[in-house]
Amino acid sequence: MKPNGTSLNTPSNGAASNGIHLNGHKNGHATHGLSDELVDEMGDNHALANLETPLRPDAFDLDDDLKIDLIEAHFREIMTILGLDLTDDSLKGTPRRVAKMYVNETFKGLNPANKPSTTLFDNKYQYNQMLVERDITVQSYCEHHFVPIIGKAHVAYISSGKVIGLSKLNRIVQYYAKRPQVQERLTMQIADELKRALQTDDVAVIIDAAHLCVSTRGVNDTASSTLTAAYSGKFEDEATKQEFLKYVGMAKPTM
Ligand SMILES: [Zn+2]
Repeated sequence: MKPNGTSLNTPSNGAASNGIHLNGHKNGHATHGLSDELVDEMGDNHALANLETPLRPDAFDLDDDLKIDLIEAHFREIMTILGLDLTDDSLKGTPRRVAKMYVNETFKGLNPANKPSTTLFDNKYQYNQMLVERDITVQSYCEHHFVPIIGKAHVAYISSGKVIGLSKLNRIVQYYAKRPQVQERLTMQIADELKRALQTDDVAVIIDAAHLCVSTRGVNDTASSTLTAAYSGKFEDEATKQEFLKYVGMAKPTM
């Protein structure tokens, strides 16, 4: 499928360019004619159409090395358009560094090939209480502004007879975080994967995170954080939910 308005040139003509190319500008505004004001507002509106990350059908037709070469060329253009002198020693490696960071680190979780494999073990101890893994580091990227979302996730499950290695809980969080995200979708994707991996509906996920698009631009609020939660199965039961919230330090204060 041919991308619309973008040029997926091979590096032979794309990555080698030093000048400014405004490829695709004739095809109209990148946001298909929406006003700047509306685009800003949509960046604050977290209406979710779908639990799945919106990916193109040809998302993985290009291999990672080619993606890095192409992103490098395009990022060089962005810097050039901003007026930066890419012959400067400090700047000249930046396009490649950013491209490698996007593909190998920041957005690594887009590729299903990087999904952590989970092995189920029998719950030998017959431990049938909830297991809570709290304060899991969340480092994600806002898909509306391409700046970081940084915070913590608390996840819990009640074993259906099977358990997974504890570090897998962290890895599942990390995998879905390493994508352009909105926090609501990230929360639900983690909950869904926990249900699938643990073969139970009894899971809970809370994410408490600061969005750099809120703290470093726009409203510039450095104090606020955003909380999202997904409860299913036994965690929809108020007593179970409160027990989980107590363990993660978020329970209602009792009078
Ligand atoms: Zn944002």
